[in-house]
Amino acid sequence: MRIVQKYGGSSLCNAERLQAAAQRVSKLARQGVQVIVVVSAQGDTTDELIEKARQVNPQGSAREMDAYLAAGEQLSASLLSMTLETLGVCAVSLCGWQAGILTDAVYGNARILELCNDRILTELEKRNVVVVAGFQGINRHGDITTLGRGGSDTTAVALAAFLRADLCQIFTDVDGIYDRDPRRYPDAQRFSEISYEEMLGLIQNGAQVLHDRSVEMARAYNLKIEVLSSMTGAPGTIVG
Ligand code: ADP
Ligand code: ASP
Ligand code: MG
Repeated sequence: MRIVQKYGGSSLCNAERLQAAAQRVSKLARQGVQVIVVVSAQGDTTDELIEKARQVNPQGSAREMDAYLAAGEQLSASLLSMTLETLGVCAVSLCGWQAGILTDAVYGNARILELCNDRILTELEKRNVVVVAGFQGINRHGDITTLGRGGSDTTAVALAAFLRADLCQIFTDVDGIYDRDPRRYPDAQRFSEISYEEMLGLIQNGAQVLHDRSVEMARAYNLKIEVLSSMTGAPGTIVG
């Protein structure tokens, strides 16, 4: 059994949330499940990094911005790996280029093309939990790229597709997909299932709960995604 779990920024924002994510991963790893964890930058890190870069250069080059912003996810990946170590779980963190996530060269909105090495599989064979920094890859020139805001979802779906995972779970701060943003509309209705088309429609209407390319990729590979709460772990919404 092979599972990809993605944790968004609010699901990793402090030591307590990191511990909760690590506990969930550890339970699976102890059952012999191969776990690939995709992480976002903690909390509002990406916004803060963008602001910092702007203070230095409001028109910083796209290449440098990508190299800079990718660091947020790398920090998360190592932090989660070290949290897993405290639970006695063997874990290894990989940033995008180490994981072989090859993208095109469109800085700031790169598209994942393929997995260009076997590093993740090698680590899984060594019985390591593999924690992959989301939102990033490497292009054919050897430079770091990022996938666009919210792109860690797409990292997770791409890895689930390329590694033929049995399950792709997206852990976030709401307990599934609703017909409207549940934070703004308390009477929003939750879906237990939603089709790719309906999900893409919600995204087009502004729902930023999933990166659009993650849904397009899931549809292309006929892969179901589960969106669920990292607070409760209760069954969420199945997309697809
Ligand atoms: P993460 O950091 O886990 O990637 P995001 O902030 O990207 O989380 O996405 C989760 C947020 O999406 C929720 O907090 C919610 O406010 C918002 N959201 C917007 N539209 C919807 C919707 N239709 N269903 C669920 N959540 C939605
Ligand atoms: N950290 C990036 C962002 O804030 C990517 C992600 O969270 O998926 O957009
Ligand atoms: Mg997101």
